[in-house]
Amino acid sequence: TVTRLQPFTTTIFAEMSALAVTHDAVNLGQGFPDTDGPASMLAAACAAITAGDNQYPPGIGVPRLRRAVADDQRARHGLDYDPDTEVLITVGATEAIAGAVVGLTEPGREVVMIEPYYDSYAATVAMAGGVRRTVPLVGDGDGFRLDRDALAAAFGPQTALVLVNTPHNPTGTVLSDDDLAEIARLCIEHDVVAVTDEVYEHLLFDGRTHRPLATFPGMRERTLRISSAAKTFNCTGWKVGWISGPAELVAAARAAKQFMTYVGSGPFQPAVAVALEQEQDWVLANAAALQDKRDLLSAALIDAGFEVHRSEATYFVCADPRPLGYTDGAEFCRMLPARIGVAAVPVSVFADHTEPWDHMVRFAFAKRDDVIAEAARRLRRLA
Ligand code: PMP
Ligand code: GLN
Repeated sequence: TVTRLQPFTTTIFAEMSALAVTHDAVNLGQGFPDTDGPASMLAAACAAITAGDNQYPPGIGVPRLRRAVADDQRARHGLDYDPDTEVLITVGATEAIAGAVVGLTEPGREVVMIEPYYDSYAATVAMAGGVRRTVPLVGDGDGFRLDRDALAAAFGPQTALVLVNTPHNPTGTVLSDDDLAEIARLCIEHDVVAVTDEVYEHLLFDGRTHRPLATFPGMRERTLRISSAAKTFNCTGWKVGWISGPAELVAAARAAKQFMTYVGSGPFQPAVAVALEQEQDWVLANAAALQDKRDLLSAALIDAGFEVHRSEATYFVCADPRPLGYTDGAEFCRMLPARIGVAAVPVSVFADHTEPWDHMVRFAFAKRDDVIAEAARRLRRLA
């Protein structure tokens, strides 16, 4: 492995999912749901395969999906993107992030990101030869908020991009409109491009709403907005994502994407288009169900003796095992599958700094209620 990729040889998700299999553990580590997406979407994928839709689709994605992505954003946020030049279909949000970072970062330039950050950010910045600048979330009682002084201090003449993830993995934080306005102000002042990872844009709880950074004044022309079907339609294995933004920025990401995968897989694209066109009620019901699952798992964790942080969105809730006598989250997660048959992920793998992340553990609640109930029973054995 080359030096710049040495810190990134095995992802924590692979490591913990393997441990979960070995110990027949309830896997609350890797974030994926255990039920399927809308039936119309599943049927459309099967129909596309049977109809012979099995060769290379266009590099930028099939027209129907690009149109559905553009229509959806116009309807929900008043954001207007030309489906032919301002939308690019990618192999999940993962490739969208990699394409944006590799396409827009000169070696040695800095990429600002919120800490803790989704693990692929650090790896793709390293591939691009960039340097990461992290801005921590800080505690606000039971949840987290952005450290705005640190944010302002992170921007400078070397800044190439800011990567903004809201709703946020792993903490489940939704950045406030004021936080987003401050990010917008800094991007404009320093002439910086924002890359927004909005894969959890539909999974907000307690009446919260998602506002894309691209809707803030002056931001549409400098934002690459990324989302994905994975978390919206319970199809993480399909790997269908997309980027929307001004043509010039999308072209930069496309130049990189072309030589990473050339195209995404064909038959899943029209199926995701069907879901975007027809399944808005399914999406709303799914978010409501996830809110209940968050409540179930949070209560189970409290019951088991953890201190639990507020989760406002996503698939995840973070908890502190120190009241149970465990101070190191990574050690705790390596022990947990064998000890009680539950897998989780340590938040330290998403962070450069030890404090306050080293003790924290992330649990995924996008699971059937009976699975959460079984995890709750097992977690009680910790006490
Ligand atoms: N960004 C975040 C914050 C994620 O949690 C994930 C994992 N779902 C991704 C990007 C990758 O998304 P995809 O599976 O569409 O590649
Ligand atoms: N996004 C999911 C998570 O954070 C899974 C991603 C992965 O397996 N790379 O758990």
